[in-house]
Amino acid sequence: MSLPLPVATAMHCPFCSANDTKVIDSRLVADGDQVRRRRECVACGERFTTFETAELVMPRLIKQDGSRQPFDEEKLRAGMLRALEKRPVGIERLEEAISHIKHKLRATGEREIKSIVLGELVMNELQKLDEVAYIRFASVYRRFQDVKEFRDEIERMSRETTRE
Ligand SMILES: [Zn+2]
Repeated sequence: MSLPLPVATAMHCPFCSANDTKVIDSRLVADGDQVRRRRECVACGERFTTFETAELVMPRLIKQDGSRQPFDEEKLRAGMLRALEKRPVGIERLEEAISHIKHKLRATGEREIKSIVLGELVMNELQKLDEVAYIRFASVYRRFQDVKEFRDEIERMSRETTRE
């Protein structure tokens, strides 16, 4: 699929450094996630390729001790898989939950967020997927945060279970 060519570009030629290069072809690649442009230098005639990708910035996480960490999707997935071990939840629903979480993180528009915000998002999603997985995750996650709140939650749930 060809895209309309821009009239002018300010990309420098990597061969002669002239700042007059033109786009001779432009197409979507990687399922539309990337734009590949073929360029030609007006000065020396060399051709080269550039790729454009939208930068989807995930906020960095501020840990309890104040240190910063980049968002790590693999770590998130591993944590959720651990909570979902041997539970009747398919991988597609887990992936859906992960994209909800990522969407919400991006939607904050913040460059940094407290890691506790991510923890709450994960718990919300797990609660929708599976109560056992939710409790497993919450028991690890909340251990050092609010023991009483966690105990209340267990009690609330066991009350609800007894009622059924
Ligand atoms: Zn050139």
